Amino acid sequence: MVIVIACFHANTTFRCLTHNTLTRFVAKPLNPRSLSTSKPGSAAASIRSTSLSLLRSLAPARCLLCGNHCGGPLCDGCSADLPPLGRRCPRCAEPLLQPAPLCARCQQNPRSIALDSTLAALLYEWPADVLIKRLKFDKNLAAGRALADQLAAAAEIHMLDASHRPDLLIPMPLHSSRRRWRGFNQSAELAQQIGQQLDLPVTLAAATRVRATTTQSLLPAAKRAGNLRGAFQVSDTVAGKNIAIIDDVMTTGASVIELAFAAKRAGALQVEGWVVTRAPAPGR
Ligand SMILES: [Zn+2]
Ligand SMILES: [Zn+2]
Repeated sequence: MVIVIACFHANTTFRCLTHNTLTRFVAKPLNPRSLSTSKPGSAAASIRSTSLSLLRSLAPARCLLCGNHCGGPLCDGCSADLPPLGRRCPRCAEPLLQPAPLCARCQQNPRSIALDSTLAALLYEWPADVLIKRLKFDKNLAAGRALADQLAAAAEIHMLDASHRPDLLIPMPLHSSRRRWRGFNQSAELAQQIGQQLDLPVTLAAATRVRATTTQSLLPAAKRAGNLRGAFQVSDTVAGKNIAIIDDVMTTGASVIELAFAAKRAGALQVEGWVVTRAPAPGR
């Protein structure tokens, strides 16, 4: 089989030698929406996947942050700039100034007991926040892959203790109206990448956000937990299983705790939060 890849400039004119007619080729800009809406398994999806792989292999690999040629998503210098997490709450990974068995927020929230522990790869600070915003708001999937690499690397170490190996990865669900508005769920993208890298199953359907809630970042920290009460529904596919909730940013932990609470009620044995970045609680 011979594959011919042809590149034409816009408005190039061709002459048909048989009919002596002129045909004008008008270049149409590639519509990313048409690429992203192909059904899985369809011929269009297959062409899309092959085209993207080809483009990736042909494109010079530049660092996503500084633009230097480096052969990978991030150069060594920018990788070294990614902010690690220091001392943190073992339950919700909130950064702690002083050693403590739990942060004050977890001590005051009885529902937090549903969350067994949290693994956070990075602090939500520059330049990790740049990559998160690119994934979330620009749908930059290369940034998503770089972030997934960070969480997968941390999870590999975390799972050296076999009790931390989950049976299922569950992305933090978005309400359907938010998902339509954003066009995708960034946590699902991360979960798929991490599942592939670590050979862990991912289920997108086990958890749904059944109630549209006020955006957490618009609320004061004290109101965030109440805003999410009863917002999630988890199916019994989690019953008897250890699960890890995948999320891009954990701020107060209210969403992850509420989803962990719903998962425990559905019969999950152990629930961990696996988040790429952890923000210090507001006001700290
Ligand atoms: Zn760089
Ligand atoms: Zn905590």
